[in-house]
Amino acid sequence: VHGLFLLANVHDLSKFLYFYAVNISIFGASQGLLPDLVLAEVQEAILDFPKYGSVLYLPHRSEEFLALVLDCENRWRKLMDIPADYAILFLQGGASLGFLVSALNLHTSSKRLAYAETGLWAQKAIEEARKTGLFVDVLASGKSAHFAKIPALENISKDFDFLHITANNTVYGTQYQDFPNTAVPLVADLTSEWLTRKIPVEKFALLYGGTQKHVGIAGLCVYIVKKDLLGRGVLPIPNVLNLQNYINNQGVYHTPNVFAIYVMQRMLCYLESQGGVAFANEKLQQNAKQLYQMLEKFPSVYHLHADESCRSVVNIVFFLQNQKHQTDFEQMLANNNILGLQGHRSFGGYRISLYLSTSPHQILQMCQVLQDFALKVS
Ligand code: PMP
Repeated sequence: VHGLFLLANVHDLSKFLYFYAVNISIFGASQGLLPDLVLAEVQEAILDFPKYGSVLYLPHRSEEFLALVLDCENRWRKLMDIPADYAILFLQGGASLGFLVSALNLHTSSKRLAYAETGLWAQKAIEEARKTGLFVDVLASGKSAHFAKIPALENISKDFDFLHITANNTVYGTQYQDFPNTAVPLVADLTSEWLTRKIPVEKFALLYGGTQKHVGIAGLCVYIVKKDLLGRGVLPIPNVLNLQNYINNQGVYHTPNVFAIYVMQRMLCYLESQGGVAFANEKLQQNAKQLYQMLEKFPSVYHLHADESCRSVVNIVFFLQNQKHQTDFEQMLANNNILGLQGHRSFGGYRISLYLSTSPHQILQMCQVLQDFALKVS
């Protein structure tokens, strides 16, 4: 039934044939794949939506939109088991704005923030926090090990306002297996792993992240914040960056990304129907295991970047042992219509990114290509 839902709605048959009959597999890290059912629902909502004709015309002050926001909030609360003293907000700006939002909203008069430097996005979070003028301490860094390992964090002073971590390091393929045990409230960027494993929310002052990888499309950042930790700072916070301001305005202070919120709601419903976070985690674990095992089977051909202790189940990062084989490998990927494997532009190598909707067929095909190539060059 792959593509059946889409076929029922797609007007342009040639497009359907291109993506499904040609069998393109996308493993790119930047934008996650939407399930066929969600694509079909979104397509329909653009062309046919109750009262307004199109979801693109849904006014952000309408009662229907406020109901949509509330519905999303309830679904997040249920899926992640979020306690009532946390607010859930759907704001613009991506996680890159979240770097600044977290520092501004959660600092206190002590003005001391702690960070773990575990990769490119953690570095960007640190860089943005420093621009506020607050004191930023990097307590641990994986830089000297090329971010192949997540550095341990021990004996963290209670004086920090929070400790910021990047739960899944998209560029380097590492992921915290357990979250740091600390008396200091945690802040985590969950962009590349939203809703893919159980998170002990009560350990965190703030969870934030863009929705484009696992919960829809770009242009939306979800914030889950412990309300009583807001408003203790000394720096002025511009309205558009002020989480309390959104809480005071039912989450809608200015025009939100209505369309991305709609897509997110369809994704949340889909995830629920599949079995929620536990199901997503099981699926990612299984798929990642198959791929890691295949790459490990040929150590003379592939080099896995992440240390075994902290391998990501979302981003699998590897290099070819022999650079001479690069063109052949990439040709083989292209011949099999496999797209999106190039590593981050700052780091190189290859990266296989996994999502809830990555199909068993795509995993099999990827494993087959890795094996065929390894046998060919061994
Ligand atoms: N944090 C992480 C872990 C990411 O993977 C990304 C995007 N790849 C970002 C932050 C930045 O997200 P955005 O581009 O939506 O601002």
